[in-house]
Amino acid sequence: MLWLAHRRELLLQAASQLRSYDLDPGLIRPGVPARPDAQVQVASVASLIRREPPPADLVVVDECHLSAARTYQRILAWYPAAVVLGLTATPCRLDGRGLGETYEELVQVAQPQQLVAQGHLVRPNVLAPATVSLSDCMVIRRGDYTPGELARMAERKELVGDVPEHWLEHGHGPTVVYATNRQHARAIQAAFCTHGIPAGYLDGQMGENARAAALKGLEQGGILCSVDVLSEGYDLPQLATVVLCRPTQSLTLYIQQTGRCMRPPGPATVLDHVGNVFRHGLPCADRYWSLTSAQTKGRREPAGLSLSRCLECYAVYAVGLPACPSCGAQRITQLVQQKDGRLLEVSEEELTQQAVIEAQRMSVNKRARQLIIMGWRPGDAWRVARDERKQEV
Ligand SMILES: [Zn+2]
Repeated sequence: MLWLAHRRELLLQAASQLRSYDLDPGLIRPGVPARPDAQVQVASVASLIRREPPPADLVVVDECHLSAARTYQRILAWYPAAVVLGLTATPCRLDGRGLGETYEELVQVAQPQQLVAQGHLVRPNVLAPATVSLSDCMVIRRGDYTPGELARMAERKELVGDVPEHWLEHGHGPTVVYATNRQHARAIQAAFCTHGIPAGYLDGQMGENARAAALKGLEQGGILCSVDVLSEGYDLPQLATVVLCRPTQSLTLYIQQTGRCMRPPGPATVLDHVGNVFRHGLPCADRYWSLTSAQTKGRREPAGLSLSRCLECYAVYAVGLPACPSCGAQRITQLVQQKDGRLLEVSEEELTQQAVIEAQRMSVNKRARQLIIMGWRPGDAWRVARDERKQEV
């Protein structure tokens, strides 16, 4: 068996898990002598690509949403007869495409709500400040914002100045701020310093030493302002707070970024300055994935995207709750609903009315199906069912 991963942390985790099942895995990673005789090999993708491939009839790919990358495809091509098992929390590529080119079947083993109930995940408290303009929260199908669009959005001054203030009020513990570009990350770092809060900075172009120093600061409970680099490929310490200052259309990126604070024990806080929660729903929302067009399916939630924002503390929560789970405030909320790709603020009455209309439509469909079974033509059945309903109302 061959176990593939791309981060040190994941390789070591896999090896230690395998040992707990009395297996003795060989490691294929820099600075570790190869043990070609071992039946099970745990390999870093970057190291394996330069070495002799070990024999395997089962290949496990950790974080398999990366499988489409050239290195992974080259390695998988060495094993045409092997069973390939991919593992991931986001079975979808960053651009929203499904994994159907590499995998034949998708098995969803658990939903986030279940994992929260079992204590494997912590439900984060999500706060979206009042400056998040809902009319900006357009939802498009595929791809993400262009660097130009991101740079324009980052110019809004509340996307820099409000960040430390909000963090002082609600943030805690090791924190990563996801900015739109380097200039934006630097500006947020400076804003933290103006408030007397030391903050580090990290981007993908920094040297080994500077990077290690930045990550060390984070480990000691500091704040790190970063560009996309931290969502992938970094061994991060456990985060307590995630600050979203980079709007994204990518559900995968959103789940990866927010997921960084959701490991137990918690508490976990997400400060969303760009309305990603209104684009993608709460981080712990149950989702339904498929191997094709995973993003569209992943977005579909059973009850639709109806969220409340508490106007007392800005916590965002599911519309069905009687009071704000964060501060206990009742009814001082703003209801948010998605319609034709736009987000709208709606009143509670409007929402109730829509629920009634929806229920009526459901019952008309049900009655029409009954009539069809009784032998009516579909068009007539639907007309009759609708007329019957009208008479009742
Ligand atoms: Zn509240």
